[in-house]
Amino acid sequence: MTEPNHARFPGTISLRCIQCQKTYPAHQVRYLCDCGGLLDVWHDLEALHPQINRGLFDGRLSGPPGPRVAPTANSGVWRYRELILPVTIDNIVSRPEGNTPLYEHPRLSRWVGLEQFYLKHEGENPTGSFKDRGMTVGVTQARLMGARAVACASTGNTSASLAAYAALAGIPALIFIPAGKIAAGKLAQALAYGAHTLQIQGDFDDAMALVRQVCDEMGIYLLNSLNPFRLEGQKSIVLEILQGFRWQPPDWIVLPAGNLGNTAAFGKALYEAHQLGLVDKIPRIAAVQASGASPFYQSYQNGFSEKVTVKAETIATAIRIGRPVSYERAVRTMGWTNGVVTAVSDQEIMDAKAMVDGVGIGCEPASAASVAGVRRLVREGVIQPGETVVGILTGNLLKDPTATVDYHTGTWPGASYANAPVQVAPTVDAVRGIIEDRVG
Ligand SMILES: *Cc1c(COP(=O)(O)O)cnc(C)c1O
Repeated sequence: MTEPNHARFPGTISLRCIQCQKTYPAHQVRYLCDCGGLLDVWHDLEALHPQINRGLFDGRLSGPPGPRVAPTANSGVWRYRELILPVTIDNIVSRPEGNTPLYEHPRLSRWVGLEQFYLKHEGENPTGSFKDRGMTVGVTQARLMGARAVACASTGNTSASLAAYAALAGIPALIFIPAGKIAAGKLAQALAYGAHTLQIQGDFDDAMALVRQVCDEMGIYLLNSLNPFRLEGQKSIVLEILQGFRWQPPDWIVLPAGNLGNTAAFGKALYEAHQLGLVDKIPRIAAVQASGASPFYQSYQNGFSEKVTVKAETIATAIRIGRPVSYERAVRTMGWTNGVVTAVSDQEIMDAKAMVDGVGIGCEPASAASVAGVRRLVREGVIQPGETVVGILTGNLLKDPTATVDYHTGTWPGASYANAPVQVAPTVDAVRGIIEDRVG
């Protein structure tokens, strides 16, 4: 790495160990504490308090239109930059990202059993997943540090996002992916954006272990969610939800949980927003895992007395993770938010996806875990029908065309809402028969 520009890093942030509280300067390249604990980007909340209020962020919502608007005005991440990475605007690498829609559809609400059910669609970010929110911050940080290259291991969306933002910044990107375990849309993006793509014989957890070693030994900047700067960007999902609800928080925020980066970021965002007086109450977090990849759920069931790891298997490749990196940070979220963890089967995930897709919204399989999880938690009486719930859709429908087509064409056993294509002779009479049959 070249000499980092210390002057660009304000004094209000540092890196802090979540276990022993030891702090390090924010410009130091470091992903773990000397004690082995995970790091936070720690904001001096007392110093921030006088500068931060709802009006500051609300005022930025109506920035002037035009092609050269500052990212603070039109990025749903950098609008909150004081709480994320307080850098000067000309250093920011932004598409822009965020400002994602909050959908509500009566058929979906009925299906999950709620009166007020919203979906925050993070799949409508620039590269089609929430990972862009973390990556704009991570790559901005990499540029500030003068990184010669950036790298990540990925189940797909992280690599797509890293590839795009690194290309934007002109920094070489290396991505480590488990061979044959990546959805087609995601692999296509990494290649298209010009990342050096290394297919590893092994699963995500193997790729993760390898990239950590490579980055350590070769001075490459690591942009997995181990990197605390990415999680700072992902906090903006929650900040946007709170602002979207005019700072009157919903009762629940429900999200899919894989590597637990988002689970960690959401809790930190809520803790900080509450400490800073932006909101008066903290919504409960529900983290949803696939039952074939549910180490966090199993740990939750034993009261977090033991950190469970598993060999992960699920159709939802984005959450096919057996050794989640942000485990301790996510446990903290459960404490801060009175959170719960649940698990849903691949069948529940794919049926929930078909429901989300079928109302015209659409998402990738992992995202539908949120919706399946809400339905399960309502049925179990954990979420009450009158409560306001926001589910996170983490990725775009187009990311994983194979899973969708398999579901609808009968390759997937037991699909409850399959919409199979119909073979038909090229005559009006044949088509008429089908219309009468299907449309009525
Ligand atoms: C990365 C990802 C997840 C998992 O998020 P974590 O923060 O690792 O728990 C879920 N869904 C999609 C679409 C993703 O890309």
